Amino acid sequence: MSEDIRWVKTQCGRMDHGGCTLLVGVKGNRIVKVKGDPEGFLNKGYICPKGVASPDRLTHPDRLKYPLKRIGKRGEGKWARVTWDEALDEIAGNLIALREKQGARSVGFGVGMPKGLDHFVLIRLANIFGSPNVIAIQDVCHAPREITGLHTCGFYPVADLHHPSKLILLWASNITSTNEEGAICSQLLRQVRDGARLIVIDPRRTALVRKADKWLQIRPGTDHALALGLLNVLIEESLYDRDFVGKWTHGFDDLARHVKTYSPEKVSEITWIPPQLIRETARQFAQSRPAAIQWGNPIEHNIHTFQTTRALICLMAVCGNLDIPGGNIQALDPKIMTLGQFVRADLIPEKRKEMISAHHGVIPRLMTVASSFFRKAVLEGTPYPVKGFYAMCSNPMLSWADSRQTYEALMKLDFIAVADLIMTPTASLADIVLPAATHFEFNDIGHYGVGQGYILARPKVVDPPGECWPDMKILNELGKRISPKEHWYDDYNRFLDDVLQPSGLTYDQFVQKGYLKGPDKFKLYEEKGFQTPTGKVELRLSLAEKFHIPPLPVFEGLPEEDDPDYPLILISSKSPYFLHSSYRWIKRLRDKQPNPEAEIHPETASRYGISQGEEISVETKYGEITYQARLSEGIHPRVVNGAYGWWFPEAEARSQYEWKRSNFNILTSTEKLGKAFGTPNLKGIGCRIRRKG
Ligand code: SF4
Repeated sequence: MSEDIRWVKTQCGRMDHGGCTLLVGVKGNRIVKVKGDPEGFLNKGYICPKGVASPDRLTHPDRLKYPLKRIGKRGEGKWARVTWDEALDEIAGNLIALREKQGARSVGFGVGMPKGLDHFVLIRLANIFGSPNVIAIQDVCHAPREITGLHTCGFYPVADLHHPSKLILLWASNITSTNEEGAICSQLLRQVRDGARLIVIDPRRTALVRKADKWLQIRPGTDHALALGLLNVLIEESLYDRDFVGKWTHGFDDLARHVKTYSPEKVSEITWIPPQLIRETARQFAQSRPAAIQWGNPIEHNIHTFQTTRALICLMAVCGNLDIPGGNIQALDPKIMTLGQFVRADLIPEKRKEMISAHHGVIPRLMTVASSFFRKAVLEGTPYPVKGFYAMCSNPMLSWADSRQTYEALMKLDFIAVADLIMTPTASLADIVLPAATHFEFNDIGHYGVGQGYILARPKVVDPPGECWPDMKILNELGKRISPKEHWYDDYNRFLDDVLQPSGLTYDQFVQKGYLKGPDKFKLYEEKGFQTPTGKVELRLSLAEKFHIPPLPVFEGLPEEDDPDYPLILISSKSPYFLHSSYRWIKRLRDKQPNPEAEIHPETASRYGISQGEEISVETKYGEITYQARLSEGIHPRVVNGAYGWWFPEAEARSQYEWKRSNFNILTSTEKLGKAFGTPNLKGIGCRIRRKG
């Protein structure tokens, strides 16, 4: 039997950032088996439960297979099947009408986390159409680290898991549950097997705590205070890299004076971490070189994210771990088309001034619009009205803070089109819904534009069902209808050729190689200096005054002040079985985690009379939802970890799949936003719990 199976090598995609090389067994046009490729560039045979279940998406009975047009009231769940031409003409007609009436900027183009090349084709479409408004999740994922890096040291410092480190500080990063832009767990485990030590900083006892020397069970939302406490010890005890600091940093004396006030004792009161553990961590970090900080995106989940990421980069710098093998590096791209060229940034030179977020004074170089600002534009017309929305690979009803506000904004828009795999709470509010092809069903390039220094070949394995199209094809065909045809192709596969063109490879040749990686070059600053105004790592930010932000990484307080009415602290964490709001509809994954759960400490549960598995209410100042209690010793008694991204695909479409019942973002708010990126508080929020019924 096994002789009938054709094996295809490709990359996992769209279950997280992707990156595991897979061997996919196919019979006819059907995938029958998937396994990790022992020779995989990043994963060396590893595959997670999401990867194993990923083919189930292709044949799911609820999969969208034809374009649909709304025939009832918005959100009523009544649809008529239409042809692709009808659907695309309808979208184009609406977008062009809006552009003529209110300008191209009255249309927002929405996208979730980057999953493949289509992410950047969407930005190209927005640019060519003339809208500066790409609504993405960068304010809570990636941008704080990347943009702060650009301003502080001239690059986005990623943990180098490809070269041996002596110590890896896993700071709010649990890569056993999900990979961080390709930082696959097996890479980390390989480092640990080869002798790297681990320190885990996390409010929860994650699986990797078992392998760690130390676990710092931090109070949620106080990471920047901890980083300042570590800097205090490093500087007070003269443990920093004097040579690097003397030659390559700007503002060290100011930083040293500044962190004097953050003694381990003071920081312990803020972070709940014992002072001695702060001292020992600082010493171990300083004495282990090279050391890398593998930072997860929870540090970007509160209004103080800019100062937090600044403080972490200062830590990397003063210990001399920037841009050395096994430290935090500037990952250089292989010879491929630059992002700016690919998205045709040249066609929209006024984007920075014109985009919605410019009005809110965000930090320069943030090129997408935070969802909170987008909704302000829709609901209040600030700074100008936005009336149309084209969204793909995203489910804002679940994934943006304050879902009630999202619902209101979507209901107010004149026109919405959504491309997705199945009907979601967001798609259910659209005027046109387009059936997208999923990974395995088209040729793609992974990891383009995410700053890791490599791209991955994801060749097609099978044909999509019904009339599903790859998003790249949808965008290409829509592009021809709403902008000059010369910017678009007869065959959307030409986008892949564009990216590869400088490498001299065809897509087939690229597939043979599997990946392209940039050169390993370190200490580039020795040739050119750091790409900052001072040519050094800016511990003190030289443009701070211009940006209206503090020049040194100050601790600006808790995300929310303590409130006796909401005595517990709410966080969320990534599930190993789902990607944000995706894939509750895949039985194999849902069986592993059938219900939305809130993790609470047994002591806390007993105080509130709650038993394992009982239905509970979790309430913040902003809303209340239902979870099932999961008791765990691995969480602090004051912290509640609520599952994120839950809706119920089995519920009725006209209820928007019960989007309010257990949706974490009913508990969040956009009242307070960080100045640099427009980031709301997604964690560290005061809450209370009670048994239901
Ligand atoms: S870790 Fe990510 S890339 Fe690897 S198999 Fe799982 S979902 Fe796919």
